Amino acid sequence: MTKSVETGWNLDNSYTRLPESFFTKITPNPVSSPKLITFNEPLATSLGFSVELLKSEDGAAVFAGNDIPEGAEPLAQAYAGHQFGHLNMLGDGRAMLIGEQITPDGGRFDIQLKGSGRTPYSRGGDGRAALGPMLREHIISEAMYALGIPTTRSLAVVTTGESIIRETELPGAILTRVAASHLRVGTFQFAAGKGSTDELRALADYTIKRHFPYIEDNENRYLSLLQEVIKRQAELIAKWQMVGFIHGVMNTDNMTISGETIDYGPCAFMNEYDPATVFSSIDREGRYAFGNQPGIGGWNLARFAESLLPLLHDEQEEAVKLAQNEISVYPNLFKKNWLTGMRAKLGIFNEEQEDESLIDDLLSMMQNHKADYTNTFRALTLGLPEDTVMSGSEEFQKWHQLWQERLNRQQDSKDSSHQLMRDSNPAVIPRNHRVEEALKAAEKQGDFSVMDRLLKVLASPYDYTAEQADFCRPPEPSNLPYRTYCGT
Ligand code: AMP
Ligand code: MG
Repeated sequence: MTKSVETGWNLDNSYTRLPESFFTKITPNPVSSPKLITFNEPLATSLGFSVELLKSEDGAAVFAGNDIPEGAEPLAQAYAGHQFGHLNMLGDGRAMLIGEQITPDGGRFDIQLKGSGRTPYSRGGDGRAALGPMLREHIISEAMYALGIPTTRSLAVVTTGESIIRETELPGAILTRVAASHLRVGTFQFAAGKGSTDELRALADYTIKRHFPYIEDNENRYLSLLQEVIKRQAELIAKWQMVGFIHGVMNTDNMTISGETIDYGPCAFMNEYDPATVFSSIDREGRYAFGNQPGIGGWNLARFAESLLPLLHDEQEEAVKLAQNEISVYPNLFKKNWLTGMRAKLGIFNEEQEDESLIDDLLSMMQNHKADYTNTFRALTLGLPEDTVMSGSEEFQKWHQLWQERLNRQQDSKDSSHQLMRDSNPAVIPRNHRVEEALKAAEKQGDFSVMDRLLKVLASPYDYTAEQADFCRPPEPSNLPYRTYCGT
């Protein structure tokens, strides 16, 4: 017990106070020999942990689920979800929430082990995860954090000392995920599906208290809840579009209520700009293609609204009207966020009617010329339009002239406009080939130095330093499309 307190554990388990259908308490499944592979020291410190104590063997045992810290009440959460449009009963099939860490400044964060063994929601799965995908989540979620995009985070990855069977035998691993919460649209779908308005209300009240306490006294707080979630998702997805992030599996169980990005399975960043870009091997129809993400966000929010109907109004018809009204706000709200973000990428502070066509024209040229998304904005930020693949085209030169005139029309100085661009256009993103290279070295040679170097570069994406130049290059052309996998 003393050891737990010294380490900085300060757990509460508010989730266990929800109606019991929402979770199942779990007895951990110990693994043979836990070994700490990566540990996020700044995150550990911000959560109130002693870095030294957690880095020791004791920490590895906790991150593997072999040792449960004082105050933990491990559980698996129940949830449902539309997977590629089809509603299924899901739940944590390979994850265990060990509790909510209360930080020194009063924050509350879920501490969840992912890959920690079977649960009552595992269906056919083994409850385990492989090292490669867990390191991938570590790299990409930390890169997203550094990019300023709301996200779950990765505190640690441990190997278990056990092999897991996929297409081949792979080293097993567990990732410790930190999240504002793991409440999902699918959690509400699960509650709605059970048909008990009392349980649904308990979940909604819990959510409001945890994430939106400022709406607690609103006249119709459940309608406010819907508005808040719509607002956060519109902001989040606009931010994804700004950096070319493709989530890959925007099922409703992978959409948080807090507005954090969650579930880094098949996600990847786009190189050449093309709204039709899809990386996930199972997304054959392109449902979750880059350009479809905003629309899918709206579809998912409509599912959220449906699940809230019994709380919105006593009369079903009125409830539907209220929900539809809010859902119809989303496209414009998204668009507003998107335009603000794109203006910033072009160094524009104020609004003009023609901005949208200025942006659209650039994007369509980028698509026609197969221009790299990140590097085009990087070149514009650096004042090197000649570095873009479009520079030889008259169309681009004309566009560039119009853009310069647009910048001259605003009151703000050239310097502040340049600074805005630097703050809005990352010089580096986790390029797929760089991520793969780091994972290969880690998996095949047990060499983690490639990953560490990548993590270091990705930690300051807006720095525009000389050392980053190497990481800005897109991959060499290949005949094979890049493919990602989920549930691995
Ligand atoms: P995901 O595609 O990661 O969002 O997962 C969808 C569902 O499958 C969730 O309920 C997961 O908990 C479950 N799942 C994924 N991988 C496994 C596994 N290896 N064992 C058991 N359940 C899994
Ligand atoms: Mg998931």
